[in-house]
Amino acid sequence: MAAAASVGYAVQHLIDPEICIRCNTCEATCPVKAITHDSRNYVVDFNTCNFCNACIAPCPTGAIDNWRQVAKTTPFSLDEQFSWDSLPPQSDLEVGSDAEVPAEVRQLTEIATAGQGGAVAPPWSAAHPYVNLYSVDRPAIATVTGNFRLTDDGASADVRHIVLDFGSSAFPVLEGQSVGVLPPGLDPNGKPHHVRLYSVASPRDGERPRYNNIALTIKRVTQDHQGSPASGAGSNYMCDLKIGDAVKVVGPYGTSYLMPNHPGSSIMMICTGTGSAPMRAMTERRRRRAALKEGGELMLFFGARRKEELPYFGPLMKLPREFIDINLAFSRETDQPKTYVQDLIRARGKDVARLLRDESCYIYLCGLKGMETGVLEAFRDVCRDHGLDWDRLKPELHAKSRLHIETY
Ligand code: NAP
Repeated sequence: MAAAASVGYAVQHLIDPEICIRCNTCEATCPVKAITHDSRNYVVDFNTCNFCNACIAPCPTGAIDNWRQVAKTTPFSLDEQFSWDSLPPQSDLEVGSDAEVPAEVRQLTEIATAGQGGAVAPPWSAAHPYVNLYSVDRPAIATVTGNFRLTDDGASADVRHIVLDFGSSAFPVLEGQSVGVLPPGLDPNGKPHHVRLYSVASPRDGERPRYNNIALTIKRVTQDHQGSPASGAGSNYMCDLKIGDAVKVVGPYGTSYLMPNHPGSSIMMICTGTGSAPMRAMTERRRRRAALKEGGELMLFFGARRKEELPYFGPLMKLPREFIDINLAFSRETDQPKTYVQDLIRARGKDVARLLRDESCYIYLCGLKGMETGVLEAFRDVCRDHGLDWDRLKPELHAKSRLHIETY
């Protein structure tokens, strides 16, 4: 698209630092390298961004989908954006009246803010989600009513199931949505911690049915990506919470990673580690409605280092085989070859191909970024072996909202 500037005005693409979770997805996606970051903020270079919108859909929170009309000669600089704690309001002084803004710029603003080329649509039968009910300035206050370790005492990872109760505050969520948590205190730069995002692990009617509560699945971060010791401010705060503690929660977020609700719809779930949170929510929703016999299948591929490290291993194993088809991939069991979820997708190729063909089957990936490439390659192999063309099928899956990916 042509640059948004003509006479004196332009549209500037910006990232909302309040709800950005610093997952690097936008920077990794941007084809023209317009997005960079420092230790605090992700920012967009006005002179490089070409409005291709490739970064919009992958952003898990919608922080990326922000736009301001600015004077062409004075866009927000990178240094200004690095210093922000929140987005500046749209300035009347910069824009002037509507009549003064060139039609081309107004049109571009409308296109940009409508998120064209943006978010993947949810399944047609998904329930309507509420989003952004609570902000950093006005968070909901939840009370901790549960904090249980999910992994074995001997496991290397401390993964916890944390239950938050919202009391009389309305906090409606759907399976697949996320919430943000505000850790107290200040970061090493002396600024308030940014929001930490976690997928909801409980179904829409509450962790305990008809209670106004949600569950989260959180792994204590003790290392950075390079393996050096590091203490995650958000995860350690959450994992150390005691019953009765108050937590500031924002959101909910997410309008596309939602489950289908029509009778006969099937769900294929592929996850690693704590990426199991939305899968637990969807599975539990279906389990609570199983007596209605609405049909459809559940197929799960779940990867963890060892059995002891797999969140929800015990409850998962108690589910009837006719209710859910479970495939567990363990990568570091001493007596088994290293197995990833994509290996099991290939091993179950015939059933996977049947569900890929089934227009009523919706597919969800959640977990490690590295898994995404491996799983998509496995789908390609399955298609080749079972008379399907992945290059044709993949865009169809996207167009019909049948493929949903949330990887970090
Ligand atoms: P993890 O324990 O580090 O890994 C889980 C399993 O995935 C291990 O068996 C690991 O094998 C395997 N794995 C590693 N690379 C892989 C690849 N390229 N393909 C397939 N499998 C691979 O997982 P985790 O630390 O829990 O991480 C889960 C991810 O989910 C994080 O990125 C997190 O941000 C994300 N997530 C979390 C939530 C939440 O609500 N908490 C929600 C959404 C997403 P090896 O290590 O043995 O190679």
